[in-house]
Amino acid sequence: MTEVEKAIEYFRYLANGVPKRNLLFGKHKDYENKMRFLAMQALQEKAERGKGCEYCNGKVLHTEKYEGLCDVEVMVTDDILEVNTFNHKTQYTEDVVFNFDIKHCPMCGRKLVEE
Ligand SMILES: [Zn+2]
Repeated sequence: MTEVEKAIEYFRYLANGVPKRNLLFGKHKDYENKMRFLAMQALQEKAERGKGCEYCNGKVLHTEKYEGLCDVEVMVTDDILEVNTFNHKTQYTEDVVFNFDIKHCPMCGRKLVEE
């Protein structure tokens, strides 16, 4: 059992009303503080993940220059993966945007759609 799993078990017991004095490991103040620290770290990580990464907040995640044809950039906008083509070098093509619905950020995995 990992330290995080032990912390989950510890807080599950407490949430279910098991008195701390009945928890063998709860009698040790250092252990209790360690469990609290792990819980705080997990909540901090969850809060950070909720904000997402720079890419699901608008930063272009890929650019490509196709010599003699056009430039391409890929980015996430809300819950859409956009592939934008621009700077077309031939007279027969024009800017094109491809949109794909996505549910998670392709870079950090953050959920983009509330279901
Ligand atoms: Zn992201």
